[in-house]
Amino acid sequence: MTVQLAGHCHCGSVRVILEPGRPVGEMPLRACQCSFCRTRCAETTSDPGSHLFVEAAPGALNHYQFGLGVTDFLLCAECGTYVAAVSETEGGLMGVVNVRGVALHGFEGRTPDPMTYDDESADERLARRQDRWMPVVVTEVQPSI
Ligand SMILES: [Zn+2]
Repeated sequence: MTVQLAGHCHCGSVRVILEPGRPVGEMPLRACQCSFCRTRCAETTSDPGSHLFVEAAPGALNHYQFGLGVTDFLLCAECGTYVAAVSETEGGLMGVVNVRGVALHGFEGRTPDPMTYDDESADERLARRQDRWMPVVVTEVQPSI
């Protein structure tokens, strides 16, 4: 049976399902040190063997870009929660989930690894993500909450 971790943004308009590719306790937990992530206390996870599903009500997802412009930060249009970050890669849509934003269980009490990616070029960034990020499916539907 596939383990599924479910979470949602503060208002419930955006829901996520994470299917971790390994035991949750072994999933990485990262705290990107950029100003966007730090001001949101974001702590993200991803693992190439995992799958992330994002379900949003119609119009409930805002796509925010900054810096190199190769990443879509998915924010709830209703409550502003930073839900996930995704990039189009050769392997398809890949991303990370903000486990704090959507309150995913299983990561409580862990100290995230601080990550700094300031010096990366756009190519290096996409290559790293292909190695570490996980496939993401984004669906805009009406949640059944
Ligand atoms: Zn919301």
